[in-house]
Amino acid sequence: MNKRNTARIRLFIMLAFVAVAAVGYFVKGGIGNSCGIGFDDITLICPLGAILVMISERTAIPLAVMSVMAVLIMCIVLGKVFCSWLCPVHFMTERRMLSRKAKKAAKEARQAARDTGNSGIDTSQVKACGKSSGVKFDSRHAVLAAAVVSTLIFGFPVFCLVCPVGITFALVLLIMRLFVFGETTWTIILMLAVLAIEVVVLPNWCRNLCPLGALHGLFSGLNKTFRPVIDSETCIQEGRGGHCNLCVDACHENINLHDISRGETTLADCSKCRACADACPVSAITFPFLTKDASIEPEKHDA
Ligand code: SF4
Ligand code: SF4
Repeated sequence: MNKRNTARIRLFIMLAFVAVAAVGYFVKGGIGNSCGIGFDDITLICPLGAILVMISERTAIPLAVMSVMAVLIMCIVLGKVFCSWLCPVHFMTERRMLSRKAKKAAKEARQAARDTGNSGIDTSQVKACGKSSGVKFDSRHAVLAAAVVSTLIFGFPVFCLVCPVGITFALVLLIMRLFVFGETTWTIILMLAVLAIEVVVLPNWCRNLCPLGALHGLFSGLNKTFRPVIDSETCIQEGRGGHCNLCVDACHENINLHDISRGETTLADCSKCRACADACPVSAITFPFLTKDASIEPEKHDA
């Protein structure tokens, strides 16, 4: 995939996803199902919302169970792709990552790559990255636990009232209704304010607070396909002793692929966004269909 086009392709797919969901809501004519996508009996609902509703109702709901199973299968097969390829909130917070400092570092690393020469990828030297299992718990899981506990206490899914993903989809529908039917409501202003607080004011919603991302990460711990792999010979840092940290700087999930090869963290949170590969000035990162698990064969270090 052309590295310059990856972000644009992701943006196009996300917008198409939002458009399909919006048309679905519009055809149904209501906003009560703003966390679901589909038509009539083939609607899928948000897995977190589905779990919270079942907790509040204290019963298993077939549509909710099927939705959770569908997302679980998607995460096992493709990993946490929802976050970077479909979620509109991810795109809003991702833009904040592109700081001037990161751009300057990218320029310096590209220069370093030119100075040391780009040898291309030798697949015989490719090093597998990523433990296939294991979850690194962080603040997102605490928010996930709080969402469950608050549902138990109040008897309804409290978190869904402030979920930025649901708010974004509901906003799209309300704005459509504003233009088509002339319906005006203060709810649009209220939702925009809540969304602005969550996306702009709070410190990186996706990386630090999103319980939906935490849930996808729990499911994606079982994923083994399309995991990022570093060619250690080509990498400026690993193979040439140079200074480069661009893949780490570019990662929205704060994943350090070098740490993963040392077994210090997992790829459960990798959303396959390809930002690391796009940032790499020597094209040292690829996403093969299957890789050998590095945790099975730990690196040998000289004494
Ligand atoms: S490791 Fe690479 S593909 Fe995975 S989330 Fe980070 S930047 Fe995206
Ligand atoms: S893999 Fe990461 S550290 Fe190595 S050259 Fe590419 S961007 Fe730099």
